[in-house]
Amino acid sequence: MTARILVVDDIPANVKVLEARLIAEYFDVLTASDGYMALSICEQTQVDLILLDVMMPGIDGFEVCERLKANTRTAHIPVVMVTALDQPSDRVRGLKAGADDFLTKPVNDLQLVSRVKSLLRLKTLSDELRVRAQKSPEMDELGRLTEGRVEEAAQVLLVDPRASSQERIIKALKPVAEVTAMPDPQAALFEAAESSYDLVIVSGNLEDYDPLRLCSQLRSLERTRFIPLLIITEQGEEDLIIRALDLGVNDYIVRPLDPNELVARTVTQIRRKRYNDRLRSSVQQSFELAVTDPLTGLANRRYLETHFKILFARAAARGRPLSICVTDIDRFKSVNDTYGHDAGDEVIKEFAARIRASVRGADLACRYGGEEFVVIMPDTPPEQAALIAERLRKAIEDREFVLGAGGPRISMTASMGIASNLAGAETPEQLLKQADLALYQAKNSGRNRVVAAAA
Ligand code: GH3
Ligand code: MG
Ligand code: MG
Repeated sequence: MTARILVVDDIPANVKVLEARLIAEYFDVLTASDGYMALSICEQTQVDLILLDVMMPGIDGFEVCERLKANTRTAHIPVVMVTALDQPSDRVRGLKAGADDFLTKPVNDLQLVSRVKSLLRLKTLSDELRVRAQKSPEMDELGRLTEGRVEEAAQVLLVDPRASSQERIIKALKPVAEVTAMPDPQAALFEAAESSYDLVIVSGNLEDYDPLRLCSQLRSLERTRFIPLLIITEQGEEDLIIRALDLGVNDYIVRPLDPNELVARTVTQIRRKRYNDRLRSSVQQSFELAVTDPLTGLANRRYLETHFKILFARAAARGRPLSICVTDIDRFKSVNDTYGHDAGDEVIKEFAARIRASVRGADLACRYGGEEFVVIMPDTPPEQAALIAERLRKAIEDREFVLGAGGPRISMTASMGIASNLAGAETPEQLLKQADLALYQAKNSGRNRVVAAAA
């Protein structure tokens, strides 16, 4: 993992120690001796993570953190506060300022490296989502969303065998989350996969069960792998913490629990999850926009081009037949000329609906352009493709197209060209070309017919 880390501390010796450890892990390290310098470096260069001293002359670490988190250009950079005082009140203050994590001086070597790596992994995920969401119309809103807010009641699943501990945690989190407590880790795993939780809190002592096993199971199930995990440990369980963070557990808290710290850490995790959920759904939306034709809802040409290649290669590799049908509405221009462009659009929509009704789920139907459509039929030999195309041709010819409720009814026909990979096409482009030529013949020999490419 290569990443650029900024170390901020007013004492040169402290900077040197952290710098040396990070360089030994092959990180690229920048340093700053005060808050202003740190802010200006973050403005000017790409920084992936900041290790930030709290007590510094000028502006202190809390304020630097607040400023970074308030600026949309730097808000996504994870900030780890490095504090000399292991005071819960300091931690709470840091979390309120938006810090992502804490390290206590003198900094434990393993802890430093595993926390840095775990935060960088999270950041890589967010960065990737952010890049993919960039073209989405929602992005402006997302930009303003610096890490999101916790609006709806958050759902937390607590896995803890001890009733007294459960009670304390439920009480502490009451203002920010609804907590479902379960003593049994196996049952909790099912519950997490079945429902939708914003956070799972796992107690480090689960009686007969290894808490890390539960964490790794939660991380590997498709349904739960994006849920943040917070583990509760006892004093001195450094090794457990390090292994947990390595497994992808997002955060830990040490008993005796400070209710304020528990609330602050819970809220931080939930915010981050909601932010990532939003990014993810906006990526999904822009993905759908990019691959579907807005008028018909069928796949668009771009999507076809990518997937046709995949389907073609798969069929070739498995020695399976694959057929393609190219169809074009006959004399469509006259619909536009006679009834107007909107009526033309209506016809295209209805035409697409009839295609969809004529093909199987495994077939890929796409609007290739204007009034031309392509259907890719995996596992379909030429004779069967001819039947399907004929069925579609009849579905167009047999029922009139109605232009708006009570509007004119018009008869339409379409021509089709089909081709199959068994005839020797070596590339998807060749196959498409063969089907196109067959369509051309269908048009030239009188329209309203299906022509198969010569074998
Ligand atoms: P042929 O039987 O030879 O295919 O004749 P045609 O009239 O269907 O073909 P031509 O290519 O001459 O005309 C197609 C017309 O389709 C021209 C274009 O303006 C129109 N068209 C393309 N896309 C759309 C669309 O999205 N909506 C509408 N309403 N018309 C479109
Ligand atoms: Mg046409
Ligand atoms: Mg045309």
